[in-house]
Amino acid sequence: MTRYIFITGGVVSSLGKGLLSASLGALLQARGYSVRLRKLDPYLNVDPGTMSPYQHGEVYVTDDGAETDLDLGHYERFTGVSSRQSDNITSGRIYQTIIQKERRGDYLGGTVQVIPHVTDAIKEFTLAEQDGIDFILCEVGGTAGDIEAMPFMEALRQLSIDLGRGRSIFVHLTLVPYLAAAGELKTKPTQHSVRDLRSIGIQPDILVCRSEHAIPDSDRRKMSLYCNVPETSVISALDVSTIYEVPVSYHKEGLDVEVLKAFGLAHSSEPDLSQWEDIIDRIKNPEGEVTIAVVGKYTGLKDAYKSLNEALAHGGIANKVKVNIQWFEAEVFEREDAIEQLVDVDAILVPGGFGKRGTEGKIAAAKFARERSVPYFGICLGMQMATIEAARNLAGVSGAGSTECEEQTNPVVGLITEWVREDGSVEQRTSETDLGGTMRLGAYPAKLKDGSLVAKIYGKTDIEERHRHRYEVNIGYVKQLEEAGVSFSGMSPDGTLPEIMELPDHPWFIGVQYHPELKSKPFQAHPLFASFIEAAIKQSRLV
Ligand code: GLN
Repeated sequence: MTRYIFITGGVVSSLGKGLLSASLGALLQARGYSVRLRKLDPYLNVDPGTMSPYQHGEVYVTDDGAETDLDLGHYERFTGVSSRQSDNITSGRIYQTIIQKERRGDYLGGTVQVIPHVTDAIKEFTLAEQDGIDFILCEVGGTAGDIEAMPFMEALRQLSIDLGRGRSIFVHLTLVPYLAAAGELKTKPTQHSVRDLRSIGIQPDILVCRSEHAIPDSDRRKMSLYCNVPETSVISALDVSTIYEVPVSYHKEGLDVEVLKAFGLAHSSEPDLSQWEDIIDRIKNPEGEVTIAVVGKYTGLKDAYKSLNEALAHGGIANKVKVNIQWFEAEVFEREDAIEQLVDVDAILVPGGFGKRGTEGKIAAAKFARERSVPYFGICLGMQMATIEAARNLAGVSGAGSTECEEQTNPVVGLITEWVREDGSVEQRTSETDLGGTMRLGAYPAKLKDGSLVAKIYGKTDIEERHRHRYEVNIGYVKQLEEAGVSFSGMSPDGTLPEIMELPDHPWFIGVQYHPELKSKPFQAHPLFASFIEAAIKQSRLV
C-alpha cells in the first residue's frame, strides 16, 4: 500500500521545503522504506526549461529527458532515486493537457472548470506510477494562500479523502521569526498560515518550524493549541551548517517518528543514519582545502549552479577536503590582463550556459588552463569553448566558433538537426523549432576510448549521462583537432557526436558535452568530480 505525504509551505518562500522533503525521504529510506518524491509547481510555464536561471535557478534534467525544478535534484541527491518526467508537474502542463482535450472535443459539450477538471488532472498525476512504493512525498511549490496554488491544495484535500484514513498526511513548513527588539520568537505568522490551510479544509498533521532559535516549550504548546496539532508534532528546524546535516537534525527533532506515528506505523526502532554521519564528519573535519575557479555567466545567483555546487562539494567529501569556489563572471576575462586573476586557483571549471555573452572569456579561461597546465573541467558549453580554443590555437582553424554566437565560417560547434535516440527513433529539428523542450535532453550512452583518462576515471568504457544542449562539436573538425593533440575520448555509439574531449599531454583537461553534476551524490561523488578535485589537490601542492 502506497502512502502519501503532502508537504506545503507557509509564511514565506525559501524556507527549505525541498530539503525538508528530500530529508524526510532519506529518513524513511534509512528505516527501510521505499520512497519517491514529486514536485507540484503552481506556475504557468509548462516546464522550467525556458526560464532564465535568474528566475528559477538551475533547470534539473532527468534521465527520461524532463526539464524540471531544481528541487528534484535535491530529491535525487538525498535519496539516490532517479526522478522521472512524471515527478514534476506544473499548472502550465495541466492546463495545456486540458485545453488540448477541450479542443479535441473530449469533454462532450461540457463546461470545463477548475473543479473538477483541473483538480482531477492533479489527482491523476499524483496517483500515477505508484509502483508499490511505500511512501510518495509530494511537495507543493509556493506558499499557502497563493492564488496559483489553490487548485493544488484543493486537489490534495480531495485526495486525502479519496485515499481514506491513514493513507496520507500533511506536513506544513512555516517560519517562526525571532524579533530582536522583543527578544522573542513569534508564532502568530504560523497560526495565520495554518488558519489559511484549515479554511480550505486542510488540517496539517505535523508542523515544521524554521527558526533561528530553539523553540521554547511554551511556544510549542501555543502552536499546538492554536494550530490543532499534537505538541510532539511541532518540530523545530534550526539552521545547520551544511545541508547534508538536515536529515540527521530532523531525526533528532523527531520528525520521522512523528510521521510514522501519524500513519499509525511502528516507530520504536532507530533508522540507520551511518552514511549521513560519515558525510557530516567528512565535511566538518576536512584534511585540506582547494580553490576552484568557476567561470560562468549566472554567478550572481548560486541556485543557477545548484547541482554543480553540490557535485564539487561531493568531490571534496570523497577526497576529504574543503572545496572553496571562487566565482568569476566570464566576461571579465575578455580584458586580456584580467586572466592573471586565475593564477592562485587550483583548478578551473567552465560550466554549462547559453548565448554569446561571456563566451570569449570562457575561451580565454580554457586557454589559460591549457597553457599553464592547470586542471580544467569543461561542462557542456565549457567543453564546446575548450574545443574552440584548441581549434583556434592548436589546430590553426582561424576564426573557429559556435553558430550559437553568430554565423561562422568555421563552425567547430554547430546546431545539429537530426540525431538518433537509443530506441532507434530519429529526433529532428530546425533553427525555427520552438525553444521549449527541443534540445538533446536526458540520458544518452557514450563509448569511451580504451586507455583514455576518462576511461580510467570511470573504470569502464560504456557510460550513460544526461544532456541538455542544442549545439554539438562538429564531427567535420574532429580529425584536424585530433592531429593537433586533442583526443575525443568519448563518442556517441554511432560515432557521430563527440561527447568528451581531453588533452593527453595535460595533467587534467577534460571537456564533456553532458552534465555529470546531475548524477553526483554526497555518498557517491560523480567519478569525474572526485577525480577533478584530486587533480586540484595535486595542483595545490605544486603552487
Ligand atoms: N548553449 C550550448 C548548447 O545549447 C550549451 C548548453 C549547456 O551548456 N547546457 O549547446
